[in-house]
Amino acid sequence: MTTQAITPPRQPVSIWDAAHAADARRPRSRQRQLGASDTICSRRAAYILHNAERTHSADMRAAILGTYIHQGLLEDVRREYGWLIERTVTDDVLRGHIDVVQLDEATSARLPKRHRPAQPADVMTVEDVKTKSGRIWDRVVRYGPTAAEMRQVLLYADLLRTTGFADVPGQRYLHRLGPIDVQRIRFRFVCRDTGEEHLQEFDFDPWLASEARWWVERVREASSPEELPRDHDGPGLSVICDNCPFREACWPVVPPGVPAQTILIRDDADRAQALADYVRGHELYREGKRLKEKARAMLADSPEGRYGDNELGWSGGNPKQEVDVPAMVEKFEDADLVVPMLPDTQAMVDVLRRAGMTVPMRTAAGQKTPRTIKISPARPNA
Ligand code: SF4
Repeated sequence: MTTQAITPPRQPVSIWDAAHAADARRPRSRQRQLGASDTICSRRAAYILHNAERTHSADMRAAILGTYIHQGLLEDVRREYGWLIERTVTDDVLRGHIDVVQLDEATSARLPKRHRPAQPADVMTVEDVKTKSGRIWDRVVRYGPTAAEMRQVLLYADLLRTTGFADVPGQRYLHRLGPIDVQRIRFRFVCRDTGEEHLQEFDFDPWLASEARWWVERVREASSPEELPRDHDGPGLSVICDNCPFREACWPVVPPGVPAQTILIRDDADRAQALADYVRGHELYREGKRLKEKARAMLADSPEGRYGDNELGWSGGNPKQEVDVPAMVEKFEDADLVVPMLPDTQAMVDVLRRAGMTVPMRTAAGQKTPRTIKISPARPNA
């Protein structure tokens, strides 16, 4: 008797395999020169400059979605408004791609007509478009760019001011303009979940740009990445470290269940410092909790609305629902189920749920769900 091989059913491929493969081929992913966007952590920047092996493949799905949105929006503003997008700037040290350069009238007049924007800016502006998740949107609106994001855009603007657009195919007509007198930097944040757009602008500050340059110099001067500080708190505590391609090189492997941060304690002086930090953290927490509790109590009967820089909202406070036991007994009887002699509410709820039937609920007399305060930054024109 011959046995016939059974072919296992073919598993559908993940759409993300294609997205990750395409992302790995993007010039930005293959670039080994320090990019302005790599300045998120000094040690990480040094790993890149020292050509260190990447030890960790991060989950890139959120970043890839951000790239898709980013590309779509930039391409549309190029087509509709004639904005200059994705332009390369470089010098001996750095290389970057500026999302948008808004040319002023005098500079755009120096370009061939077909390359001029539909509406010139009042001053030369470097713009960075950042997509952000709804989870951190309030923080973005309230506090604006992080120090690393600010550093990145300052470096872009400084490259434009010192060397102008890079001399590369596709932008030679821009390179011929020479150094560009950038006056303003702008962040254009876009919420990935709602599409909300939030702008923040700053005058170009040469002193801050020198500070950003100094940061890069310090990284370049280090003879090994380990000479530089870890700018983030490590795996499990910092999402930047969780997704860092040099995570294993930076944080030596520890036994399972042991936090990576234990390697930071070398002697009793480190222990004393960690304990002092813990006590200070607890004090800050206690004081923060006290402030919040008092403010929450004071606001308990305030109507929703905009007050100063913040928006007050409320949720909850609705009539509380409870299981309607008599209706449930009736339901059991209709379905020929055995009603326990002593009604066991939770067991009956479980039986109905397992059978795919709805659990009858009724409003609990005089009880309400907890009323929850919602405070968000006040939006313009709210
Ligand atoms: S793991 Fe964290 S601290 Fe270490 S290099 Fe990467 S981002 Fe910096």
